[in-house]
Amino acid sequence: MERKQILATTSLLVLFVLLLTNCKPKSDSDEDTLLLLAAAASRICANSAYTGTTVVASTATLDTNTDCITGMTSSMSADLPAWIRNNFKCAVGSVSGTNYVFRSQNIPNNKSYYFGSTSPRYEALGSGQKAAGTNQISSQCLVYTIPSSPSEKLTNKTGTQSGYASVGITVNGLAIFNNAAAAPDTLSTEAQTFDQYNGHPQNSGVYHHHSQPLNVSNNNSNLIGMLIDGYAVYGRDCTDAGSSTTTPTIGSGLDNNHGHISTTLHFSSPTYHYHYTSDPTATIPTLIGSYFHGTPGTVSN
Ligand SMILES: [Zn+2]
Ligand SMILES: [Zn+2]
Repeated sequence: MERKQILATTSLLVLFVLLLTNCKPKSDSDEDTLLLLAAAASRICANSAYTGTTVVASTATLDTNTDCITGMTSSMSADLPAWIRNNFKCAVGSVSGTNYVFRSQNIPNNKSYYFGSTSPRYEALGSGQKAAGTNQISSQCLVYTIPSSPSEKLTNKTGTQSGYASVGITVNGLAIFNNAAAAPDTLSTEAQTFDQYNGHPQNSGVYHHHSQPLNVSNNNSNLIGMLIDGYAVYGRDCTDAGSSTTTPTIGSGLDNNHGHISTTLHFSSPTYHYHYTSDPTATIPTLIGSYFHGTPGTVSN
């Protein structure tokens, strides 16, 4: 390569890295950045050929055949392992080389206050809850590239607040966010804005769960989703391959990242996985802690 070319390539790379480091909407502390990005980008999914028709929150209805919002594509390719193929929906999943790829419009199949009061999918907030400003749910184009063979990262673990558009995907195709809130709030304060299914959108419309998605898991051992390092995340309880159920917690069965190695109803040999559990940083139970156990993949939006 000529020197000029190298310089040009290098400056492009630097610009890209700068953009990336400025783009860290994984917690609500980054809402302003996301808002700017959202204003710049159309909300129409660039991959609509895969993910279906862009959903308009005010007219959204539920497709009772797929149990996903009408117009969204829900498909899991045949080469995905059974634990994904048989459990994930409301997104488009496939295998690409050594990764799983999920594309999601990220519209919840539960009702929510944040569809807006004129929407057929509207539901009032629960008692004691308050609205997160004028935030409303909107279609996204989240693309997850997740290693299909998760690898443990024993040192220098990657923080879950390290600049990801989402840190995981639920079995119903929704973004998982970390255990942090916009300073000076703690997540326990922000939990007051959760809808009746424990989710809420950022002001750019990205609906997400820090806490258990109540139409997937309610203090049981259901599979909730997958973090972007490729490890599964389960509900509060752990049911092993022998159908014996326990309730592990951090310091009593679980490491600080909410995980442990055990069999589950989906993994007959002992496998690392996360649990929804009480988190010391969030001061409420969350789906994840402050660090990934493995090497995370990537997420774009
Ligand atoms: Zn949030
Ligand atoms: Zn477990």
